[in-house]
Order: sequence, then structure tokens, then C-alpha cells
Amino acid sequence: MFEVSAQQTFAAGHALRNYHGKCENVHGHNYRVQVTVEGESLDETGLLVDFVELKRLMSQVIERLDHRFINDISPFDVLNPSAENLAKYFWDEISRDLKGDVPVRVSEVRVWETDTSIAVYRPHAISRS
Ligand SMILES: [Zn+2]
Repeated sequence: MFEVSAQQTFAAGHALRNYHGKCENVHGHNYRVQVTVEGESLDETGLLVDFVELKRLMSQVIERLDHRFINDISPFDVLNPSAENLAKYFWDEISRDLKGDVPVRVSEVRVWETDTSIAVYRPHAISRS
């Protein structure tokens, strides 16, 4: 099994609903996102997925969020903009658009809200042969 990961950062504001504490107030984070892709074979060039393509897909999602108030952006106008839900959102969006010359899938998304606070989304449904 091969794995490839790429990281990108963005800055955005949010406020957590149904939460009692500092994070119910509007505040910002310098988010870091890491997307990991896995697959069993490489293309003719020896790549699982082109980093350029993976980062392009990540940037498409980040463009919607960067320097914005996340609570205003669908689905976070309804869904709480927690790091956990952001990780699942990146997984959904990138999984939908990811395709390569060889079978690949997004195995994990990590979202850092701070240097020491990380949320991970990893679907259980991945079947491994
Ligand atoms: Zn926060």
C-alpha cells in the first residue's frame, strides 16, 4: 500500500454553536489541513497521485473557506464548523473529485486548529484487500 500526503494552510473565523466556553464566541484559527491518499499501485511515472493535482483539489476547497467566516458557508451554516466536521468536509469534497491513472482513495484528513489540537476523519468503510 502506498500513501501520499499533502498539507496546506488557511486562515478563517468560526464560532461553535451549542458550546459553552471560549469557542462559542467568534474567533479565528490558522488551520492546517493534511490529506492522505492511498492506493495499491503506481502509474507509469511511479506516482500514486501527482502532488500538484492533490494540492489543486485541496486549494479548491480552501478557496471557499480562506479569510471567511466559516459559519456563513454551506454546509456550516447548519453544521457546526468544528475541526471534526471540517475534516469530513475535506474528505467528501476531495474524494468526489479525486481521480488518477491508478485507483486511489482519500484515506484520512487531518485538520489542525492549533499546533497542538488535531481532528482526524478516516472512513471505516474502506475495504482493504
Ligand atoms: Zn475555534
